[in-house]
Amino acid sequence: MPSYNVGIVGATGMVGQRFVSLMDGHPWFHTVALCASSRSAGKTYEEAVGQRWAMDTPMPEWARNMVVMDAFEQVAEIAEMVDFVFCAVDLSKDKVRELEDLYAKAECPVVSNNSANRFTPDVPMIVPEINPEHLAIIDAQKKRLGTKRGFVAVKSNCSLQSYVPALHPLREAFGLEKVLVCTYQAISGAGKTFDTWPEMVDNVIPYIGGEEEKSEQEPMKLWGTVQGDVIVNAVSPAITAQCLRVPVSNGHMAAVFACFARKPDLEEIKTIWAGYKGRPQELKLPMAPEQFLHYFEEDNMPQTRLHRNLEKGMAVSIGRLRPDTQYDLKFVCLSHNTLRGAAGGGVELAELLCAEGWIDHK
Ligand code: NAP
Repeated sequence: MPSYNVGIVGATGMVGQRFVSLMDGHPWFHTVALCASSRSAGKTYEEAVGQRWAMDTPMPEWARNMVVMDAFEQVAEIAEMVDFVFCAVDLSKDKVRELEDLYAKAECPVVSNNSANRFTPDVPMIVPEINPEHLAIIDAQKKRLGTKRGFVAVKSNCSLQSYVPALHPLREAFGLEKVLVCTYQAISGAGKTFDTWPEMVDNVIPYIGGEEEKSEQEPMKLWGTVQGDVIVNAVSPAITAQCLRVPVSNGHMAAVFACFARKPDLEEIKTIWAGYKGRPQELKLPMAPEQFLHYFEEDNMPQTRLHRNLEKGMAVSIGRLRPDTQYDLKFVCLSHNTLRGAAGGGVELAELLCAEGWIDHK
């Protein structure tokens, strides 16, 4: 079995805590460095996280007494210890780019959950079931950075990880022309719980800064193509999005309306969803769901509390597929925002990078 030493940068945050939980018992990855800001550095992980532990499983024993390292000040030391790092930090885009470049240039691959590099043209933005072929751009990025093994690979925003997986095989089969999507997003997507964001109890807030732009634009990069030293974005479909924050701890739901070049038959769509497999399923990656897309026939499914944890929180749940009066069809879909949409997607991406030889042992 392969074995890699891993660092988690931003380990004390909401996504970082998920990474720590997912590393507990991971068959390939062994965590040797937990890193955060200078506020946390030098403390044990348990002290640094304090009351912020927001997972529904206890903090793993091995993590409690690890001493947190300073993500900026100890780059060289951390890069020396690990085969790659996960990165999920709350910083300005400029500071995130600076930090991710520091690790890449220290010959340490970065698997990033941050948005800062998502539109850097030679940084692959990957949903492993959708566009694994974009990893080929890493060679061009290494050339730009002047590195042998260091690079940055990112995963996409959590909001789109319910509806893009559902639309992807339909785009291939029927030619996707137009999409309208409304997302209903959990508070953990803002790094919050009901304790830290009490205004969200019994409330809906119709604004999530930057989210509608990401929901409309990031799918175009996922559906783009590698051309020379850059990824060129797709030009269709046209997507319009509204993103609302709802009083749910975990799980983003989306209501989707779509038009196609060839109007699909609804039963044909269900067959396509049931049969869809990506590279992670072929490779049987440890974090990959066996069945990526699950369709539910019941009118009141999928439901957030019932289905967000399906297949380790990595599956996408779909329901209510029906014709629409203005669009060809409509449906709803659901994915776990900090598992499929964040740390779980990051782990699956790292597994893909290792399995395909982009991350090696030092
Ligand atoms: P968070 O809970 O606020 O955690 C932020 C992390 O960043 C903490 O570990 C914090 O360390 C660290 N940090 C802050 N300032 C730093 C500095 N100067 N140097 C080094 N580390 C620093 O945020 P989050 O929700 O986990 O989100 C982290 C990233 O993931 C963001 O880019 C976010 O957009 C992205 N993301 C989040 C989700 C989600 O569902 N939550 C989904 C997809 C992507 P200290 O504890 O020491 O301050």
